[in-house]
Amino acid sequence: MIGLIDIGGTKLLTAVAAADGRIDRTVLRPTAQHGDMIATLVEMLDEVREGEPLEAIAAAVPGPFDRVTGSLLNPPGLSGDWHRLDLAGPLRERFGCDVVVENDANCAALAEAHLGAGRGARLLVYYTVSTGIGTGTVRDGALVITRGDTEGGHQVLWPESVGGPRCECGGAGCLEALASGAAIARRFGRRGEEIEDQAVWDDVGRWLGIAVVNTVALLDCDRVVFGGGVADARWARIGPTIAITVERHLKLQPAPGIRVAQLGGHRNLTGALLVLRGLNPQGGGAG
Ligand SMILES: [Zn+2]
Repeated sequence: MIGLIDIGGTKLLTAVAAADGRIDRTVLRPTAQHGDMIATLVEMLDEVREGEPLEAIAAAVPGPFDRVTGSLLNPPGLSGDWHRLDLAGPLRERFGCDVVVENDANCAALAEAHLGAGRGARLLVYYTVSTGIGTGTVRDGALVITRGDTEGGHQVLWPESVGGPRCECGGAGCLEALASGAAIARRFGRRGEEIEDQAVWDDVGRWLGIAVVNTVALLDCDRVVFGGGVADARWARIGPTIAITVERHLKLQPAPGIRVAQLGGHRNLTGALLVLRGLNPQGGGAG
């Protein structure tokens, strides 16, 4: 039995996976910004394993993180108590098993590439649009990993010098400061769930569309998949605007297939399990 963890900006999720890969016994808690994070995760894993031993643990974490040690670095949107949190070490010690840690957007990208909206793509770029915005890239079925993480949520689209809003990362005018769930609430004064005004969603869709144009310009990817709480819930509102924006701005290259993710709320866990099973040939963290 494999233990699975997904650390999100608003919720923590644990589950177990059986040998056939089926994800089961999910436990969900709001993400506490302060306190003993490891103790909370141990408690949640104990709850899902129901006394059975864990053969390994796979964790999806917000970037940036340290792939060698399996520690979080300074993920925007999580408080200082999470920063530099050694995740793999204490869990390995507590449960006596291997622990792999991977960026949550990379996990989702890998899951969608193999089992969801990215099937058949040669080069897939995945955007998770939830509390924050993250990205992952999969080429021919394997994660593209270089020095650390990609941070497509922090591509600057509206520089500070011409009025771009502050971003959680310390910069300004990033995609995440314009089109994430937190940014929508900040910019428009209401949570996305409460917004029906199509002009707001057109604004969000335009920024995401520009991000697609930049992504294709640099990578010539043939598929872009959007998932995460905002994209999953509001695709009918933003999808058409993203497509129109790409059509308007992309002049030299063919448009990629632009799709909404298919795997639902467990895609990060599914992807973490794929990483553990070695579908990321470059490793996947602290073994
Ligand atoms: Zn930023």
